Amino acid sequence: MNILLTGGAGYIGSHIAVALTDAGHRISIVDNFVNSVPEAIVRVEKITGKNIVLHKTDVTDREDLTRILHDEKPDCVIHCAGLKSVGESVKKPLKYYRNNINTTLSLLESMKETGIERLVFSSSATVYGEDNIPPFTETMPKGRCANPYGWTKWMQEQIIEDVVKQLKISTVILRYFNPTGAHKSGLIGEEPNGLPNNLMPYILQVADGRREHLTVFGDDYNTPDGTCRRDYIHVMDLAEAHLKAAEYVEKNKGLDVFNIGRGIPCSVLELVKAFEEASEQTIKYEIGSRRDGDVQDIWADTSKAEEVLGWQVHRGINEMCQDAWNWQKKNPAGYAK
Ligand code: NAD
Ligand code: UDP
Repeated sequence: MNILLTGGAGYIGSHIAVALTDAGHRISIVDNFVNSVPEAIVRVEKITGKNIVLHKTDVTDREDLTRILHDEKPDCVIHCAGLKSVGESVKKPLKYYRNNINTTLSLLESMKETGIERLVFSSSATVYGEDNIPPFTETMPKGRCANPYGWTKWMQEQIIEDVVKQLKISTVILRYFNPTGAHKSGLIGEEPNGLPNNLMPYILQVADGRREHLTVFGDDYNTPDGTCRRDYIHVMDLAEAHLKAAEYVEKNKGLDVFNIGRGIPCSVLELVKAFEEASEQTIKYEIGSRRDGDVQDIWADTSKAEEVLGWQVHRGINEMCQDAWNWQKKNPAGYAK
């Protein structure tokens, strides 16, 4: 297939680019590098041995995007472009609503104009309401998001649902749980901007000596060790779900939604311990107070993705920690030379 990937220079997009290229698909990427660097695409080319077509364009620029879709004539678009920092979205909600909603509006309008009929969208477990009891199934109540970032994801899902029905665009929405790890080569990985918000990037910076200790946000939850549980999934397993989704929209009409996680809860302290074992590093931590808005337990019911998409995870927590550490050791300054 000929697949156009928005946000393809980012953390998840670059891993998707590798998975799709390795599977024999032709990829073109649209990214404005607002949260990434072109070097990530050079690294994807190094891993795959293939040239990747790059369009340095803002997805909200509809005219430009329409021209690109017209020239590329993709069989399918995978839409990963978006801003993703929960904390920044609270401080700058307008920036988040403007960028994220507009990328989707602009993309759908351009797809309409150029007659592109297949779409895969990057959504998030953040769309599930806080009161659901895990494992989360796709049909559980949604909305009541905890922050503007979450709302942008839920609003984009709503827009997509209405539009693709009317335009008859075959669509898969993937709701990611907690992607972590990196490609085995250590050439591509996650590059947080400034102080990391997420657990694994913070652990990595404690491991390489940049931060003195991790603060565990609360150990008084109603879980076996008192810390919150999440559903960490290796970014390459997540990338491979996009391969299955692209194949699925090629053969199936309509709109379908899938959870993409491992379906196995892992607590903060369990992840710390797994990382220590995989990296042979000691992670100093202190117990702090709860983080505002944190939900105790989030993990997926992944049976629909397994049964309908025929997708499975192949990598566990140990591999996530090893691969994340390998990336960090080889790239202490991220993609910077
Ligand atoms: P990322 O920031 O690493 O990648 C996003 C990419 O989109 C970046 O390369 C950025 O430059 C690009 N981009 C943003 N706005 C753009 C625009 N207007 N035009 C062109 N390019 C633009 O983030 P990621 O972790 O790779 O996330 C990818 C997608 O997955 C996002 O939509 C995010 O909301 C979603 N998601 C991520 C996670 C996670 O934990 N990382 C979890 C659930 C969902
Ligand atoms: N967490 C923590 N210390 C940190 C960062 C995160 O204890 O410095 C905890 C956080 O409270 C949550 C879990 O790690 O319980 C995962 O947090 P992350 O932000 O990575 O994912 P999310 O909560 O958005 O699913």
